[in-house]
Amino acid sequence: MKIAIFGAGVAGLAAAIELVDRGHTVELYEKRKVLGGKVSVWKDSDGDSIESGLHIVFGGYRQLQEYLKRVGAEKNYLWKEHSLIYAESDGKQSYFKKANLPSPWAEVVGGMQTDFLTLWDKISLIKELFPALAGNEEYFRSQDHMTYSEWHHLRGASEHSLQKLWRAIALAMNFIEPNVISARPMITIFKYFGTDYAATKFAFFRKNPGESMIEPMRQYIQSHGGRIFVDARLSRFELNSDETIKHAVLHDGHTVEADAYISALPVHNLTKVIPNEWLQHKYFRNLHEFTGSPVVNCQLWLDRKITDTDNLMFSQGTIFATFADVSLTCPDDFQKGTGTADGGSVMSLVLAPAHQLMGLPNDVITELVMKDIHDRFPKSRDAKLLKSTVVKIPQSVYKAVPDVDKFRPNQISPIRNLFLAGDYTDQHYLASMEGAALSGKQAAEKLLKTMDR
Ligand SMILES: Cc1cc2nc3c(=O)[nH]c(=O)nc-3n(C[C@H](O)[C@H](O)[C@H](O)COP(=O)(O)OP(=O)(O)OC[C@H]3O[C@@H](n4cnc5c(N)ncnc54)[C@H](O)[C@@H]3O)c2cc1C
Repeated sequence: MKIAIFGAGVAGLAAAIELVDRGHTVELYEKRKVLGGKVSVWKDSDGDSIESGLHIVFGGYRQLQEYLKRVGAEKNYLWKEHSLIYAESDGKQSYFKKANLPSPWAEVVGGMQTDFLTLWDKISLIKELFPALAGNEEYFRSQDHMTYSEWHHLRGASEHSLQKLWRAIALAMNFIEPNVISARPMITIFKYFGTDYAATKFAFFRKNPGESMIEPMRQYIQSHGGRIFVDARLSRFELNSDETIKHAVLHDGHTVEADAYISALPVHNLTKVIPNEWLQHKYFRNLHEFTGSPVVNCQLWLDRKITDTDNLMFSQGTIFATFADVSLTCPDDFQKGTGTADGGSVMSLVLAPAHQLMGLPNDVITELVMKDIHDRFPKSRDAKLLKSTVVKIPQSVYKAVPDVDKFRPNQISPIRNLFLAGDYTDQHYLASMEGAALSGKQAAEKLLKTMDR
């Protein structure tokens, strides 16, 4: 069978891997010159790696890790110490370290030992977390009508624990505040993380996600006969009289004909190419219910090390929510002598919530970031900023706000030869690399099952 896939993010690449592995003819069309979508990385004129966003692999990402192994990239990421690290003012750090016990005791004992939560926070959290740890998918879905803050307060948990512990997690997960994000993704994550000891481990790519993951995926697809086209934007579908796709048309007028088609486009790009005829199906109208979260990634090159923390860090009350010194976490990139790196820190910072930052000039954003960096890392006050970059993504992952989960579409569409992949489609993970990998696998498997009938 010949399958055309549009969009070469993790979802499109995962679908392609599944299909070439089963001997099908795969053509993958990507609108940009670089593969990877939200995980893409490119080199600037100094030879520095510019990331769309700082990316972490979690221990719970079973499907993504399976793909990394399949494409020979299983050694391309490194596990870090198993703890949540919160950067506080004047260089202080607070930790939530898991105890060396099976879950949920690892989290309960670890939580009791943290110094940034009060005794009441701890007691209220144990009470709060119980329904999440005992809950199943049905329970999680049933909680989608309220925000996480509402759920947290209904469970009697303290405001202080919300602000100190969970706000950073909501911002890291979906780039929105706890009083905006739905309870559903937060408590789903609590379940994974509170019942599976390894699920919360963080790993960083040895180089960066582009070279350590996307490039091996590209090589695997091509070495198994798949063809990849870049600078190839899907513009529209031409239909047969039964609404199925006759062929796809690219922006340059080139047509693509296949037995089946997979859209691995972000939802806001897909809605632009949906023919009006298909809007009679609720399935396609529902796609308009999704809104993308704005987010900004800022990278700073400094002339000296401002931290020795080789791990992901969270902070609250700052313009950045999660960040790392990638000169430490990613030891095969961002090193002295490569590009601008001078042996100093290379900070990669995810700025969220970012709706107010979208219209600001990059140098103003950098100034705001540096102000908070000076507050959290005293050594930076004497450091020289060698270079900075700012990448703005106005519509990144879909906003997981209340009552949106039910609109996540199945990978099988009402159009017989069209299937959807993408982190927003219905799979048990939230929008993430793991969610995208699962969606690609499901789209490919459902396509083969449906088209073989
Ligand atoms: C700043 C940031 C930090 C993040 N951190 C993490 C993290 O630490 N861990 C984690 O698991 N996840 C993280 N994520 C989320 C993760 O990146 C995404 O959930 C995932 O990569 C989405 O993959 P996707 O394939 O569904 O979509 P995308 O990556 O958006 O891929 C879609 C592709 O379709 C292409 N496309 C669009 N329109 C067309 C068209 N008309 N024709 C052809 N191609 C088209 C796009 O160019 C893109 O390449 C982060 C995201 C951001 C933005």
